[in-house]
Amino acid sequence: MTVAATGTDRRTAPTLHRGELVVARNRKWDGTAHWVVPGRYLGADGFGHWIFQGTGEFISRPGAALYTASDAVLLVPHDGDWVATFYDAAHPDGVELYIDMAVDFAWRRIRPAVVEFHMIDMDLDVIRTRSRGVFIDDEDEFAEHRVRMNYPAGLAAHLEAECASLAVAVTAGLAPFDGRAAARFTEGRNL
Ligand SMILES: [Mg+2]
Repeated sequence: MTVAATGTDRRTAPTLHRGELVVARNRKWDGTAHWVVPGRYLGADGFGHWIFQGTGEFISRPGAALYTASDAVLLVPHDGDWVATFYDAAHPDGVELYIDMAVDFAWRRIRPAVVEFHMIDMDLDVIRTRSRGVFIDDEDEFAEHRVRMNYPAGLAAHLEAECASLAVAVTAGLAPFDGRAAARFTEGRNL
């Protein structure tokens, strides 16, 4: 796999309809399973696709399983090697925003009204919590995996740089990290 795998072809979504089930299926670079999270499609704008992930949903990865304790909104951007999950004030740990660096996006309609969104989680995160503010997380995991899973050097450097600039954008409150996700929570709750 190369940086080219982050290209735009596979990440073009099929025609998606409001309210459709979107199953986010994440994996790691070596193919091992990561989080699976169900949601409902809200719509797209200039930033990307917005998906509502409600409270009480079953989510799991190998070694972890739980029912979500708060609503979330997932943004899959048209460009960029990341996805952003926004949380509301009900998040048990006070997380407001969780950006996962991610590559190799792919959408797949598996039957009418059910679409899978696949991506590779690249460890690094930009997180904003009520108590800590903005910080980059999982740099240790990234450092370990880039050796063990053989991340291409160019891709690893690109992800580190993009992660750093996302942290700046989040701190500055630049769009789409400017509060616009709040309206998507309302939309999702009214589906
Ligand atoms: Mg991570």
